[in-house]
Amino acid sequence: IKKIGVLTSGGDSPGMNAAIRGVVRAGLSEGLEVYGVYDGFLGLFQDRMSKLDRYSVSDMINRGGTFLGSARFPEFREEGTRVISIENMKKRQLDALVVIGGDGSYMGAKRLTEMGFPCIGLPGTIDNDVAGTDYTIGYFTALETVVEAIDRLRDTSSSHQRISIVEVMGRYCGDLTMSAAIAGGCEFIVLPEVEFKPEDLVYEIKAGIAKGKKHAIVAITEHICNISELAQYIEKETGRETRATVLGHIQRGGSPVAYDRILASRMGAFSIELLLQGYGGRCVGVQNDKLVHHDIIDAIENMKRPFKSDLLECAKKLY
Ligand code: ADP
Repeated sequence: IKKIGVLTSGGDSPGMNAAIRGVVRAGLSEGLEVYGVYDGFLGLFQDRMSKLDRYSVSDMINRGGTFLGSARFPEFREEGTRVISIENMKKRQLDALVVIGGDGSYMGAKRLTEMGFPCIGLPGTIDNDVAGTDYTIGYFTALETVVEAIDRLRDTSSSHQRISIVEVMGRYCGDLTMSAAIAGGCEFIVLPEVEFKPEDLVYEIKAGIAKGKKHAIVAITEHICNISELAQYIEKETGRETRATVLGHIQRGGSPVAYDRILASRMGAFSIELLLQGYGGRCVGVQNDKLVHHDIIDAIENMKRPFKSDLLECAKKLY
């Protein structure tokens, strides 16, 4: 192979820039030409890409977001859109594409691979919900952000003997919520992987109040329930002032922590190694601190992320 493309797609995450840099610099070191595609699959379809040199990624290692831009482009599910996208890449004689994104973006990469255009997927998302990897690029940065927010809530909740509910991102994966809750010393954790009954939560909060707890922080993953309504319900049942806080997109921003930069750099360089070895249709992961790669189709269709029940058990002992 001689020429490759790289794009970032779906929800952005801190460390995507470091991953692009890894792909570009490692690619150039191996004598490849690297094209950056703007705004994910949308830019691929619209033929917006340009050749990158080593200075295109200068001062990027520590910058949050993605300088290539990202987009949601549902039309990429249509085959005709993908045919045009592949034509755009072939016109420039690109041989392969590195896709940095979450599981939705992996679907796009999988489809292109099935149509004969080899892609390598790198897991870029704060949600840590991608199969075939222990951690995704951006997860540890978001974790720091959430823990800092919980620390702040703790100060004010404790001063006012208040109950705080904090909604954490993660889509349908509770990793970010659970880790942040343990690090932030939250009293209660509500995760998508475990059935949730508001009355059980109220029961536990009341038990905590009876034990003399001055405040309670409940960490809950997004998409489980309307947390404003949950707060009203808890306030009604316990008689304690209850506030809901949705952290929202704050969690996606910021300079990546060292671990995310290292992971992104390693994975970016690894994607080039795989392409040079003739691989296509693979997704990169880190498992037990070793870089691994899986068939992208198999990863999406068959690999499940194990739920870390031991972490939840640990958290419950510390309530
Ligand atoms: P993430 O990659 O963060 O999970 P999305 O789920 O929004 O984010 O996916 C990002 C993009 O990937 C979508 O906007 C679309 O362009 C592409 N994509 C998602 N699912 C498919 C699919 N089934 N087929 C083709 N492309 C897809």
